[in-house]
Amino acid sequence: MLLDAPGSFGADVVVGSMQRFGVPMGFGGPHAAYMATTEKFARRMPGRIIGETVEANDRKGRALRMAMQTREQHIRRDKATSNICTAQALLANMAAAYAVYHGPDGLAAIASRCHVLAATAAASLRASGYETTDPGFDAITVRVEDAADIAAKAASAGYNVRQFSPTEVGLSFGETISRKDLETLLEAAFGVDTLFSSSIPPPPTPARTNILKNHPVFNSHHSETQMLRYLRTLESKDLSLNHSMISLGSCTMKLNATVEMLPVTWPEFANIHPFAPADQTKGYVEMIEDVSSDLAKITGFHSVSVQPNSGASGEYAGLLAIREYQKSQNQSHRDVCLIPLSAHGTNPASAVMAGLRVVTVKSDENGNVDFSDFEEKAKKHKDELSAIMITYPSTYGVFEEAVADICRVAHENGGQVYMDGANLNAQCGLTNPFACGADVCHLNLHKTFCIPHGGGGPGVGAIGVAEHLTPHLPSHDVSPPSGGCGGPPVAAAPYGSAGILPITWTYIKLLGADGLARASAVAILNANYLAKRLENDYAVLFRGVNGQCAHEFIVDLRDYKKCGVSEEDVAKRLQDFGFHSPTMSWPVPGTLMIEPTESEDLAELDRFADAMIAIRQEIRDVETGEVQYDDSPLKYAPHTLLDISSDAWDRTYSREQAAFPIPGIRNNKFWPAVNRVDNVYGDRNLVCTCAPVSDYED
Ligand SMILES: *Cc1c(COP(=O)(O)O)cnc(C)c1O
Repeated sequence: MLLDAPGSFGADVVVGSMQRFGVPMGFGGPHAAYMATTEKFARRMPGRIIGETVEANDRKGRALRMAMQTREQHIRRDKATSNICTAQALLANMAAAYAVYHGPDGLAAIASRCHVLAATAAASLRASGYETTDPGFDAITVRVEDAADIAAKAASAGYNVRQFSPTEVGLSFGETISRKDLETLLEAAFGVDTLFSSSIPPPPTPARTNILKNHPVFNSHHSETQMLRYLRTLESKDLSLNHSMISLGSCTMKLNATVEMLPVTWPEFANIHPFAPADQTKGYVEMIEDVSSDLAKITGFHSVSVQPNSGASGEYAGLLAIREYQKSQNQSHRDVCLIPLSAHGTNPASAVMAGLRVVTVKSDENGNVDFSDFEEKAKKHKDELSAIMITYPSTYGVFEEAVADICRVAHENGGQVYMDGANLNAQCGLTNPFACGADVCHLNLHKTFCIPHGGGGPGVGAIGVAEHLTPHLPSHDVSPPSGGCGGPPVAAAPYGSAGILPITWTYIKLLGADGLARASAVAILNANYLAKRLENDYAVLFRGVNGQCAHEFIVDLRDYKKCGVSEEDVAKRLQDFGFHSPTMSWPVPGTLMIEPTESEDLAELDRFADAMIAIRQEIRDVETGEVQYDDSPLKYAPHTLLDISSDAWDRTYSREQAAFPIPGIRNNKFWPAVNRVDNVYGDRNLVCTCAPVSDYED
């Protein structure tokens, strides 16, 4: 905020952290980082890019939309630009909210204040004879006789300073430091009794603040009341779990109970620096060790690392552990990874990042790994086989009957077994990855273990490993995590996103072993109940030998393409019924994958089934020719309040059918915020340019 934007210096790529932007420390995470490039590299960027688009109707209302969202791992697989799926969306939004509330002037004032504090500290210390570095922005280094002694004195006054070396300490100043804090610290640790005012830093350059000054959202919500209303407006556009079930298959959108969430906000968890002295973090470490040992019991594994920040990051860490282990066995030439076609796109992307060559294994018509193809490829590559990756239950929602044989064949041919445990919600307390024969497995704590998804993160992709891989779990150079491990780190903080682990801790402790098993059982029961309720109206793909699915199932919509109805039509129409769409076109194009989780009761499952069946009737009307596709509510879904109340209603179906197609919706109507948007336009307008305020006036 006090300098020009780095892009104006001529940089091609800029990276940074939002940790100073309204997000607490959390013992190291979660935090958002950002990466920005010139336009030249935009299409090679990892993750999600938000673009600006327009509604696909005559109104051409503006909308922001995730651009190129399907171009990453799922389409490009081993050629993806990154393996990142879950990132830090919630933290990015928290940082954005911080900028919205403070606005350009507020942010510049905060930055100036941090600088003045650092400059004042330097001036005061120098006046007392200390040698310090010049305060660049918010930090100084002070030469002292005994850094440990200064740190101890500071700590007894309630402050931590950094010990750079035996004779150097570092001080850095955030906006929450008061003048009183500074006085107390300097007196207690350095014996300085007078504060010398420093010079005021130069005012921010207009080039920097103009970016924010030009956009109305950063110039409108500066009182707590207005901020509250703004956030509430955004919330009302979001069809979230506090409105209805979100049956996104593979995502496990279960209840994030308030009691599990509350501790995240406690200062004891939120405000600890990742490298705080060990005697200040004993409780935190105890909680983390407790979570880890519970997860080890749940997975059957010897040890667990909570460092990876997502499932994909867990895959990467787990594959690195395998590679490090093989290196220790003089087997570092092993570099082939067998991955079934049905695998989540992060699997091949992570394997490539870990330096492996991906060989794809076919699926059979029942959705299982094609065992003979698998066996053939394992044998063919037996001298260079590093690992196989298998998802259990499979991404098709079926308990792969051959899982133990697959693991055996992998081992017989010199490979290690990586299990993708994103579907652990169907295993917890019923079976476990170790019992299946796996060597390492990641757990998505943001799926099975109740950390909310945050619109795309934060997450924790903890990994469990068998004993022989334990020495290769991720370590950390500055502050090795407890348990002692020697693998390369996969995150900047020793315990990754430690700040959200209390959610998982609370969930496990509240349920206990019996409760976890019951949760899995009910999740499986719920999926089978829904599959039964829908099977007369929709084709249910891939069921196991007893005609049952695991914790999720896929309904096939490809047949309706003949009459013009697409899976997207069904997904959008569900919004009119107050439901978020299930997972669309993954893992099979033209389908919906439904995962109700154990959190939904019978009434909610029935509401969802009723909506799906009512939509099936609308499809049937098109199939029989009673309604033309171009006249069908399916084509125009979702319907906004503006559509329904417009004087120019010229559809052949009624407004009531559009917005209240079944009676149950009347007392709990969710209004979609936009119609469908122009996807092509959105993919071409990657950068959300900040249009001048005048553009927004109408
Ligand atoms: C969600 C998921 C992943 C990736 O997890 P992220 O935390 O999003 O990186 C991998 N595999 C499967 C089967 C998943 O469902």
